[in-house]
Order: sequence, then C-alpha cells, then structure tokens
Amino acid sequence: GDLPPEDAVLVARRARALGPAYRLFYETPVHLVRGEGVWLYDAAGEAYLDTYNNVASVGHCHPRVVEAMARQAATFASHTRYLHETILEYSERLLATFPAELGHLMFTCTGSEANDLALRIAREHTGGSGIIVTENAYHGVTLAVAGFSPSLGPGVPLGEHVRTVPAPIPALGARTGEVFALGVQAAIEDLARHGIRPAVLIVDTVFSSDGVIPDPAGFLAPAVAAIRAAGGLFVADEVQPGFGRTGAGMWGFARHGIVPDMVSLGKPMGNGYPVAGLVLRPEVVAEFGARGRYFNTFGGNAVAAATAAAVLDVIEAEDLIANARSTGAYLVQGLRTLSTRFPALGAVRGAGLFIGADIVTEGAPDAALAHRIVNDLRAARVLISATGRTASTLKIRPPLVFAPDHADIFLERLEGVLAALA
Ligand code: PMP
Repeated sequence: GDLPPEDAVLVARRARALGPAYRLFYETPVHLVRGEGVWLYDAAGEAYLDTYNNVASVGHCHPRVVEAMARQAATFASHTRYLHETILEYSERLLATFPAELGHLMFTCTGSEANDLALRIAREHTGGSGIIVTENAYHGVTLAVAGFSPSLGPGVPLGEHVRTVPAPIPALGARTGEVFALGVQAAIEDLARHGIRPAVLIVDTVFSSDGVIPDPAGFLAPAVAAIRAAGGLFVADEVQPGFGRTGAGMWGFARHGIVPDMVSLGKPMGNGYPVAGLVLRPEVVAEFGARGRYFNTFGGNAVAAATAAAVLDVIEAEDLIANARSTGAYLVQGLRTLSTRFPALGAVRGAGLFIGADIVTEGAPDAALAHRIVNDLRAARVLISATGRTASTLKIRPPLVFAPDHADIFLERLEGVLAALA
C-alpha cells in the first residue's frame, strides 16, 4: 500500500531529526502507537500480528512488568553504588538459572556493552587479543564490537585481530560440529601466524544472523574445546536465544551441553526496559576486578532490577518456556506442511519460538523473493523479517506468549501471500 500522507511527514521529520544512519522496516513503514501481547496497533487502529519482536518477549506492555517498573520508579530509582536489595535478589535468582560454574552477574544497559565488557575481561584474563566470530555475526554497536559484527557489511571494517569462520552448515547433520570446529581451528592458526593469541570465540548460540541454525543440538562442543585448547575463552551471546526462547530451558547454550566462560544477555531481559548483563565464571574476572573498577551508571539500577525480576515472574507464572516449546513445534510443523505445497518455502529450522524458514527458487536462496514475502506479509498485517548471509531466511521470533491460535493466523496469512506469488 501507499504511505499515508501523515506518515510521509513522519519519514521526512525522522530524516531531518535523526540523520542518515537509521533504517525503517518495510517498503511501507508501519506507524505503531500501542502494543498488547502479540499484537501491535497502528495509528489508524489496525492490528498487526507480531511474529518478530524478541524484546517484548513476555508480550508487549505486559501489565505485571509495567506495574513492577512503575512501582520501583516511584520508590527508589538509583544506581549500584548504594546498598539495595532489589539488585541482589534479582542477581541471585538469575544466577540460580545457570550452571553452578557461572557465579557472577555484571550489569549493563545493552547487549553491545555486555559483549564489549566480555572482550575487555577476556583480554585481561587470557593475555590474548584475537576474536573469532561467524561470517555473518552481529554482536553490537561499540567500536570494538562493531569490529566483530561482520553482518554490518563491508562498510564497517572488522578489527585487525578479528577472524571470521563459516557458519555451521545444518545440512551436514551429525558432522556439523566437527566441520564448524575445523573452521575455528583454522582461524586460531591464522591468528597464530600473525602473532596473535586468541582471547575469545563468541557466538550467538542459535546463530540468528547466520540464518537460524539450532541443530543438531550439541554441535558447539568441539569448537568450544578448540578455543579453550588454544588458551581462549568461549562467550555465549544469549541476547537473542536467552530467557526461554528456545523452549529447552532458559539458555540456548544448554542445548549444546556446554558451560560457557561468559554469557551475554540483553533484549528480552527487561521486556523493553533497557537492562542487559554479563554472567561469568568468577575466575575469569579476577584480573579485571583487581586492576580496575566497573561502574555503569544506568546498568542494574533499581528500576532495571525490579523490571527484570518481573520478567522472570511472568516466564514462570505463564509457563512460557513450555509454551515456546509446544507452540514452536506446532509452527515448525505448519511451515513444513506448507512447504510441501509451495516450493518457495524451503528448509525450516527451529528451536522453540526461534524459527528460520529458507526462501528459495529452484532450491537456491532467493533474497528478492524473501524481501517480497516480508513486505507482502506486512501488507497482510503480519510483522516479520528476513535473516542470514543472503537475507533469504524468514526469521520467525514472536513474543513467547504466542499461542497456537496466533500460529494459525500467521500460517493462513503466509499461505495467502505464497499463493498470490505462485
Ligand atoms: N548480540 C546479538 C546476538 C544481538 O542480536 C544484538 C542486537 N540485535 C546484540 C548483541 C546487541 O544488543 P544491543 O542492541 O542491546 O546493544
């Protein structure tokens, strides 16, 4: 559809006020004014099914989270340099969801800061500086972290000590882990040839920006062993898969039977309130802690901690991990059934409510078609996007309160879009 004139005015105002670096979703941008559960509403009152937002993970504007946030904001709202129990209660509770080896939680405001802090700590601990990431990884926006986020494209140069490895290849099945680890080993050797010792291998444990690669569960173990054997640390970036999304417990790394050295958290942690953090093994932060102090003005403030605690309450009270598992399985099944009728829909991969569906023409990735489908779904009032190195995989990642009824609405509208294109 055409952009309503009042929205065209907003587009122009954005360009004027925010400058040239921002990008809107969709050929016809959506002007949203309200959210509730899995639904978002535009300025004209039309409802959009949100199959994409993993920040509002327990549902848009969840009343229990909003209430906790407002109550704390009205009571005490300061930083981490005073004694206050909210942050301790939250930290103890969150740490209890991790393996015992991961004993500390440091607070940041964004996933980018968590990954930046992970790098600083790893450099102190290992004495190395090499960084290994996947070929289309995204880990954030700081100077250092953008330098190991190749998905930002050739316009954003990688750091000198950064090496990329091929993403895991799901078609290899049982050999996925072995082949992925060979890539990591080659990167370690290339760093060594340049006189660089490795500090970290960091991966998103569901490989979201590489095209959503969850299986076979366990495939990460050989790569983790390789980086450790070379003296580096393994960082699990749980900014996307964390907090129950994979439907197999709270953390994506657990599907792989590994215990990371550090785990970065963000997006869904506060359901939209900016709270993020880094969970780590106490021994890796010893040097960093001895050498300097860490204070992040807004990180872990009392409102952040109270909000994040309410998110944990909702995950438990509404049994959202089980829902991610069952509704995710239902959605994968529905997509696979559709794929038998529409050749444009290729392989479907998923763990819980984190699903990738390849868009193909004659079996080859088709980014232009994926772009068309994303925009046609937007016209059908379903919000979705595409991911992967060639941006040809539909990324389906709804709030965890997504129910089978919502999956049916999504599948029906997707079928309509595919039928119209066929
Ligand atoms: N890591 C991953 C895997 C992410 O997807 C993102 C955000 N898209 C980040 C880190 C950075 O998080 P933030 O935008 O909160 O800095």
